[in-house]
Amino acid sequence: MQWKGYTASPQLWGKKTREAIYPKLIEWSNRKHGRLTYRTTQLLTDHGCFGSFLFKIGKKENPVCSHCGEGIDNADHTIGECIEWAEEREALREKIGADLGLPALVSSILDSRETWDAFAAFAEQVMRRKEEMERTRQQEEDNAAAPRRHSDGASDS
Ligand SMILES: [Zn+2]
Repeated sequence: MQWKGYTASPQLWGKKTREAIYPKLIEWSNRKHGRLTYRTTQLLTDHGCFGSFLFKIGKKENPVCSHCGEGIDNADHTIGECIEWAEEREALREKIGADLGLPALVSSILDSRETWDAFAAFAEQVMRRKEEMERTRQQEEDNAAAPRRHSDGASDS
């Protein structure tokens, strides 16, 4: 996926992202800090390694969170709810404040380099682990789908 083109094209953003960023669009465009990365973009746009998105593009059988098994896995769930990321979330809250909803989050990370960096750190830690775990999950799924690919024709055990 072309993330650069994606972030440069607000018309491709989902509704939630637009609603959070549009009121701040001038600040957003003029910001001197805060480089968008692959992983910060995933969290801001909801497009990426989330159960709901993987489900939508046919890479997962359901949108449920693979980490906690509760709730639909999307950016909101990852940032604000999932128990798997409680520790990272605490560190984020220390900088951003209690409200981690997208509008408050966008507003906060535009305020200072410090808050942006806290969000970027959260994104790197959490999304990297989500990507790793998703890779493992897909490998297991592939193995389950074709368990005998390398067998020599021996009978089932
Ligand atoms: Zn979860």
